[in-house]
Amino acid sequence: MMTSFVHEFDTPLFKGKVNFPTGVYIDGKFSDGASQTTIDVIDPTNGKVITSVSEATSADVDRAVSAAQKAFDTVWGLNAPGSYRGKLMHRLAELMDEKKEELAALEALDVGKTFKWAMDADLNIAIETIRYFAGWADKIQGKVIETTTDKLAYTRHEPIGVVGQIVAWNFPLLLLSWKIGPALACGNTIVFKPSEFTPLTTLRVASLITEAGFPPGVVNILTGRGPTVGEAMSSHMKIEKLAFTGSTLVGRKVMENAAKSNLKDVTLELGGKSPNIIFDDADLELAVGWSAHGIFWNHGQACCAGTRIFVQAGIYDEFLKMLTAKAKSIKLGDPFAEDSQQGPQVSKQQFDRVMSYIDSGKSQGATVHTGGARYGEEGYWIEPTIFVDTKPGMKIVQEEIFGPVGVVIKFEDEEDVLRQANDTMYGLAAAVFTKDVSKALSIAHKIRAGTVWVNHVNQVHAQIPFGGFKQSGIGRDCGEYAIQHYTAVKAVQINIGNVRI
Ligand code: NAD
Repeated sequence: MMTSFVHEFDTPLFKGKVNFPTGVYIDGKFSDGASQTTIDVIDPTNGKVITSVSEATSADVDRAVSAAQKAFDTVWGLNAPGSYRGKLMHRLAELMDEKKEELAALEALDVGKTFKWAMDADLNIAIETIRYFAGWADKIQGKVIETTTDKLAYTRHEPIGVVGQIVAWNFPLLLLSWKIGPALACGNTIVFKPSEFTPLTTLRVASLITEAGFPPGVVNILTGRGPTVGEAMSSHMKIEKLAFTGSTLVGRKVMENAAKSNLKDVTLELGGKSPNIIFDDADLELAVGWSAHGIFWNHGQACCAGTRIFVQAGIYDEFLKMLTAKAKSIKLGDPFAEDSQQGPQVSKQQFDRVMSYIDSGKSQGATVHTGGARYGEEGYWIEPTIFVDTKPGMKIVQEEIFGPVGVVIKFEDEEDVLRQANDTMYGLAAAVFTKDVSKALSIAHKIRAGTVWVNHVNQVHAQIPFGGFKQSGIGRDCGEYAIQHYTAVKAVQINIGNVRI
């Protein structure tokens, strides 16, 4: 029997009933997956099963791709004018706005993030992103290109076709919007896979996609596991483009599968180990506030988290004292409590992974300055943790931990910090704190990263491109740059001079 999620929220911050189907969403309809099996969705506050959703397998990928291809050939793609696509996208954003609290509650329940942050960040950004790309839908234009007087040449920015999109669990709804926004605006049809750990908000949005009036098959959603559904999507011969957000390890596999199958276009948004640089002349209070946000926001589960904090020698002691006080003041607790600032890590796997990094830091000789332990008896909370006395080659300095764990490192001057900050395989983001504009811009231009924040950190906007240098990825989400990844450029050449050969 097809799965659905019925739940009554009775929390201080949100009260209300939800009831929606949780099958695979193909051709505008929910159904069981071909295998008839399910995936349990776990509450990270206590490790108990919240509900279960249909488990898609490769047979469902084939079905979803066929539906997407049919929609592309008949009701979407070149058959759907941009103004029509934009109208439906605006309607979807409207419906998400109407259901904002319900979606935030589902995100908090499923991911363990606080309801307040889900409202302020995830929902606001997701809705803004769909609206932003809706505005692009009727502005996808090519160019007229001058050559000789005998020729008219122009380009068309056509949709690519059926695109596959696979995302991580840390910002399910936000990542959904970053992916489907530009894809729909450009006229592509979609087979989308959320993380098997956090499928609930994506499935709720599936119902809203139908309600908004999107033709069946334009967006198809498969809740399945990476090694089955993810592999089948990245290897599929009829998926023309694959957009992936996740770890660098899996991103590499996706690219390999694309190369081995139909050479599909690939964009990758991968991991990070972002440097956050604080100079002696920074506004200390401002820098401490943002630095704590940089590591601890979303429980450290942010790809761009500023986890390597470089502090200039003159303010090192004072900064560390203030950052420690800030870390200790963070209130851990129930994601739905009024005063909670940090919920649990998303899963037992992630909890174990983060704790093993904390152990590795200790065993490699770094000092836990604050935190470093589990919080609470059940669920997956970890104390905000700061390491000092690190060495450049340590795992906690080089590898992405993806938890509330940062390292604070002293530096002497600009040259010293640039060398250390760029000493990583990642290049997703960076931040610099100083009152000296020239110094800020000098660092901003010399850091090898896709985003550099000056005097703040971890802020993303639908309008601004986001993506990585080096092994943090290929391509950009958001902004006009994302649009470029969802069109195929066709050049049309006309012999207007009737030139003969
Ligand atoms: P992950 O790589 O384990 O999984 C990401 C997605 O890939 C999931 O949907 C998963 O099911 C799927 N997957 C797993 N194995 C697969 C395979 N063999 N083939 C195809 N798909 C497969 O990552 P995660 O643990 O879900 O997320 C954390 C990672 O995501 C971190 O590294 C983080 O930095 C990164 N991330 C990056 C960005 C960005 O914009 N750069 C944003 C969010 C998260």
